[in-house]
Amino acid sequence: MRLVLIGPPGAGKGTQAAMLSSALGVPHISTGDLFRRHRDLGTPLGREAERYLDAGELVPDAVTVGMVRLRLDEPDARHGFILDGFPRTVPQADGLALLLDESAVKLDAVVEFTAPEDVLVGRLLARGRPDDTEDVVRNRQHVYRRDTAPLLAYYADLLLSVDAVGGAEEIADEVLTRLQAAPQSERRRGR
Ligand code: ADP
Repeated sequence: MRLVLIGPPGAGKGTQAAMLSSALGVPHISTGDLFRRHRDLGTPLGREAERYLDAGELVPDAVTVGMVRLRLDEPDARHGFILDGFPRTVPQADGLALLLDESAVKLDAVVEFTAPEDVLVGRLLARGRPDDTEDVVRNRQHVYRRDTAPLLAYYADLLLSVDAVGGAEEIADEVLTRLQAAPQSERRRGR
């Protein structure tokens, strides 16, 4: 199973990705986690990404796609993955399409998590990560609407939208049920 999770910051993508990863037996790949790990280790990539992370801005596409390419080449990702936080821009989606073409594989679905902005900002401020100050949290919402929301049209024929307000277990169950109910080929044909 190859999934992309899309949703505004605070929608609970990370929680859902972890639950779906254990249910489906494929690795959870979070670009936010990968960037934070590089930053904490002080790698060259981490030093390059740091100022973007601190401002809530997106790391440049070429850097991000390069990092994902290396991660998808690892053996555990060969039979499937859940991408959390990537792609985040149309150029990143084009980059992912090239990576997948090289391996002659396709995405099975793109899951969108939706929630009202007030709920999202409240959740993020309650979480209290160091880059979760109110200005940075609001900026990440703005960046999502500007740069990431266009991906919903890009992936229209693979899209499965789920209400992200509610219990994490129920939401994960809904995603799993809907993935089973609508195999990729049938969704593509619009049935
Ligand atoms: P959130 O969902 O709260 O925005 P993430 O952990 O997904 O948090 O991302 C944290 C930061 O990592 C982002 O603000 C951005 O700077 C960087 N980042 C994560 N994924 C990407 C990506 N696909 N492209 C560019 N930057 C990214």
